[in-house]
Amino acid sequence: MTVTRFAPSPNGPLHLGHAFSAIVAHDRAIRDRGEFLLRIEDIDGARSRPELAAEFRDDLDWLRLEYREVAPQSSRIASYRTAANELRAMGILYPCTCTRAEVAAAAVAHGPDGPLYPGTCLRRGPTPGPEVAWRLDMEQATLLAGPLEWTDERHGVQIAQPELFGDVVLWRKDAPASYHLAATLDDAADGVTHVTRGVDLFRATHIHRLLQHLLGLPVPVWHHHPVLVESDGRKLAKRRDAPALADRRRAGEDGRAVAAEVRATLFDTGISLSDAIDQCP
Ligand code: GLU
Ligand code: ZN
Repeated sequence: MTVTRFAPSPNGPLHLGHAFSAIVAHDRAIRDRGEFLLRIEDIDGARSRPELAAEFRDDLDWLRLEYREVAPQSSRIASYRTAANELRAMGILYPCTCTRAEVAAAAVAHGPDGPLYPGTCLRRGPTPGPEVAWRLDMEQATLLAGPLEWTDERHGVQIAQPELFGDVVLWRKDAPASYHLAATLDDAADGVTHVTRGVDLFRATHIHRLLQHLLGLPVPVWHHHPVLVESDGRKLAKRRDAPALADRRRAGEDGRAVAAEVRATLFDTGISLSDAIDQCP
């Protein structure tokens, strides 16, 4: 059975871009008489505002999207810890005590997410303690895994290139698990068959595919949908003055009509759920 999910982080209210993402995921599942899940990704430390989860549920109800909610990330920390320990036992995680500023200052190259980690702690070997992050030894990990592929149903077969990201942090000192580790484990645990999300996360999938291999997880199909942008190229979801769905809902707007408008946008722009006409990075 096709299972998709919408996995918002309660860091701020949902906007039209989120509605678009949720509708794509919902409609993709419904097309196959499958199931659409809601997962609250609430492990972003101080930025997480738990009260927003209730708003998200109301927003989806308002858009008339039927969903089944699965456990929020904050209740799954033990499973992230188990997986991190597994990777550590494989000898492909190492502790890092560098600050963000130190990494930026020492970096000689940039990856999709910013400065590439220059490997300082891999060479220096700091003592593991509670105040460290754990990084993936990308060279060892990719050697261990060998060549990997993944499939996006809109963009075709991809060769996994996790090395683009260098030694990514998988266990943070504060969060505690990184988005990459948590989302990969959750999608497997939730039985997600089609990971549906914005094309802005296209390259993150290289890391997720590697983690699936290393942790022996099932491999889903991906569906990276176009990200709605304003005429100035900024992500719609990030537009500062875009009204939140919750505000429109409380102002009495009809959510069904908003959803219809979003679906019409999909149609008008010629973006169908199966065509690959948008740009992937
Ligand atoms: N929680 C992520 C976000 O809100 C979504 C990640 C994903 O869909 O994989 O951007
Ligand atoms: Zn370090």
